[in-house]
Amino acid sequence: MPELPEVETIRRHLAPRVEGHVLEELEVLDPRWCEPLAPAEVAAAVEGRRVEALERRGKYLIWELEDEVHLMLHLRMTGTLLLDPPEPPRYRRVRFGFDGGHELFFDDPRRFGTGELALGGDALDDFFAARLGVEPLSPDFTSAHLYALTRTSRAPIKAFLLDQRKVAGVGNIYADEALFRAGIHPLRPAQRLTRKQVAALRDGVVASLAAGLAAKGASIDDFRHPDGVQGSFQDRFLIHLREGEPCLVCERPVRKLRAAGRGSYVCERCQPRPRRPRRVQAAAARRSASKPERSAAASS
Ligand SMILES: [Zn+2]
Repeated sequence: MPELPEVETIRRHLAPRVEGHVLEELEVLDPRWCEPLAPAEVAAAVEGRRVEALERRGKYLIWELEDEVHLMLHLRMTGTLLLDPPEPPRYRRVRFGFDGGHELFFDDPRRFGTGELALGGDALDDFFAARLGVEPLSPDFTSAHLYALTRTSRAPIKAFLLDQRKVAGVGNIYADEALFRAGIHPLRPAQRLTRKQVAALRDGVVASLAAGLAAKGASIDDFRHPDGVQGSFQDRFLIHLREGEPCLVCERPVRKLRAAGRGSYVCERCQPRPRRPRRVQAAAARRSASKPERSAAASS
């Protein structure tokens, strides 16, 4: 799934090519894309308006059109945007027609991508206030801010990072990379991290996103740039998808485990497992202590 660096890569590619141009036609080929709005309703709101800016927030791409009309795109699992492809892509769901004859297609085999409208600045603010937390590449993303956020969550830190209402734009790849950089196990409860660990995690998130951006995103599924080219971050992962390969720091084999319902990659020497709470440890100790007695009783 495209995460912040992938969506930002698309934005940087498209912005100079679409800003200042008029969106003449929005052809919605799959009505599910803009549900509950009707395709005609969305087209009527955006057609004939100039693109003032192409922005991003979290994993959303925001088309800022004249008169404060905003169209928010989310690519979800498999969505890509292709500008002037040699032929219309196979899984096209939406076609944008611009002045000057340029065409942009939203191609999306699994059809989870969405298009939503916000009319006016307040509607846009409300939309994101309900969905997204701090933007990790903004000056607001300080370790003090992250520390305060983690105090409110008992969830494992991996689940915390994937929650878009906490930190916007981080998904499975960049969460794994950030936790490895910070030396924090994905199952460690968010609330229990020390200030020092949170500071390392903040730096790990920023460094991982920056590395992803520098490589123009990761193409492990369907991600392509608008000109069809792939990103190269998948060749530079420090830990993600490296199961069984040696840790780049200590050479112990990388393990794959489940955290927050997702395949998570970890070096359990560099990212020590959290100790189980004392009550659980005590119960486990009692249980193992009672075992020999029971087997002795059974054999007699
Ligand atoms: Zn290691």
